[in-house]
Amino acid sequence: MPLVRRTRTCGELRESDVGESVVLNGWVNTSRDQNLFVFVDLRDRYGVTQVVFEPERGQELFDAARELRSEWVISVKGTVAHRLPGKENPKLATGTIEVKAEEMQVLNRCPTPPFAVTEFPGDELANEDLRLQYRYLDLRRPSLQRTLMLRHRMNKVIRDYLDSQGFLELETPLLGRSTPEGARDYLVPSRVWPGNWYALPQSPQLYKQLLMVAGYDKYFQIARCLRDEDQRADRQPEFTQLDLEMSYVEMEHVFSVVEGLIAEVFAKCIGAPVPLPLPRLQYEDAMLRFGSDKPDLRFGLEIVDVGDIAAQTEFKVFRGTLEAGGKVRGINVKGAADKFSRKGLDELEQVVKRSNAKGMAWTKVEADKLAGPIEKFLPPPVQQALRQRVGAEPGDLLLFVADKEDVVCQSLGTLRVHLAAQLKLLDPAKPEFKITWILDFPSFIWDEEEKRWAANHHPFTAPKDEDLARLESDPGSVRAKAYDLVINGYEVGGGSIRIHDPEVQSRVFAALGMTPEQARQRFGFLLDALKYGAPPHGGIALGLDRLAMMLAGTTNIRDVIAFPKNQRARDLMTGAPAPVDRKQLKELGL
Ligand code: ASP
Repeated sequence: MPLVRRTRTCGELRESDVGESVVLNGWVNTSRDQNLFVFVDLRDRYGVTQVVFEPERGQELFDAARELRSEWVISVKGTVAHRLPGKENPKLATGTIEVKAEEMQVLNRCPTPPFAVTEFPGDELANEDLRLQYRYLDLRRPSLQRTLMLRHRMNKVIRDYLDSQGFLELETPLLGRSTPEGARDYLVPSRVWPGNWYALPQSPQLYKQLLMVAGYDKYFQIARCLRDEDQRADRQPEFTQLDLEMSYVEMEHVFSVVEGLIAEVFAKCIGAPVPLPLPRLQYEDAMLRFGSDKPDLRFGLEIVDVGDIAAQTEFKVFRGTLEAGGKVRGINVKGAADKFSRKGLDELEQVVKRSNAKGMAWTKVEADKLAGPIEKFLPPPVQQALRQRVGAEPGDLLLFVADKEDVVCQSLGTLRVHLAAQLKLLDPAKPEFKITWILDFPSFIWDEEEKRWAANHHPFTAPKDEDLARLESDPGSVRAKAYDLVINGYEVGGGSIRIHDPEVQSRVFAALGMTPEQARQRFGFLLDALKYGAPPHGGIALGLDRLAMMLAGTTNIRDVIAFPKNQRARDLMTGAPAPVDRKQLKELGL
């Protein structure tokens, strides 16, 4: 039988359509056999419409309706009618009408699904691995469909906005040369050139810079990037970036394009206003006050340095740490003194210990003293100074960590986020977006394992002009013209002004421990291109999976990707990665 194709979708019929003859196509969301009637909720990606089957339309049709089961796919012809008074469903956009079925075609049957596709509020989701195995069923769930539709909208807004600003969307190769950018490459063997390998791009970084040399002064691409890294909750082996590059720009120009874009995306996708210009925070300040270069600014709990005060105490842990060059810093948890018992405080200590801190000191602020085990080490003037420094009032809880600086940052940064969750400082019903730039990153970080300096962003990032002279003598003090975009504690983007002078690029390669020969062998094509009239240029890449997570209000990156890998980089639906035929390997000379 030829398909009876829909005239309307399952989400659009309203009272004004009553009396109209329609055809709907969709999946059986639920069916209820009530002897005198069979009610079917028919679902497609636009919504759900109630369809009623009545015996008076013919026994054959009625019997067929009784057979219907969840997730069968059908075509129904019928007439739109008012629902009986009192039977309206205000939760459904189509809740005042129903379709009285006159004909029905079963387009396909479905065995009992391994988990419920129908979503009811408060239902717990089935095991994620099972859902990933049957992803095509999981993707039928209305909440996932809403998220992917939102992602489509986001891409469309991005394309329209950048097009309106004169950007060109250009594609760059997937099969390229391995040009290490910090992560491990996915490699592809060449059949034609046995023993040689392509690398899948970690990002289009060098191609976009070459496009600037080639004169395409405003470029963007919604680009797939691949990095063979250990998985984390907000990472996938392949992910999508909005990659962007501009010529003849300084940081301010990149900021202004990206800020306009972000405001447009939030406004058009979820109606959330983003006040511009976005605030900026220096890297050092972020590390000091929030213990992180991607701080969540939706709550306070700022970190305060109390080293100078701690130096005046008798407390050995504080003094010993300071004498060894470490830091003593703390957080004032406002009004939380009676929210944490001894056990609760022990649990907080476990949180900092997981970040390698040796321990956590605490005191509870009372009207006339700082109570707790370290009280005896704190003479009254020290107590007074501490109170003032952290703005303490009776009822507050003060938490301290004394350790090496990076451990203090990491542990108190983690503790802040932990406390915000435990004290429910964020209301999930009222989503809030705190967006900020982080600036003035160090250009290089010391790689303890390899005993050499490594690029903090990537080796093509321009050092600040005023720091360039110290490139050889004191690389650790050189700051980069680099910036990250942080939203609610997630690094959503990162970029920089690039080096466009081949001399400077060679000096940076040398600072990273590459000999001129090694630099030439790996990046000769870039050094050559920079010689042929490279304009000053800079750009950024925004992680679109993470941006979509923000817009959709999820913390699970797999929710915003149609066919994601699981936490162990496996596609549970297709079984990738999987063995291949011996013949295929032989052809590749493997
Ligand atoms: N290519 C960089 C990255 O993927 C971003 C950039 O500097 O534009 O992180």
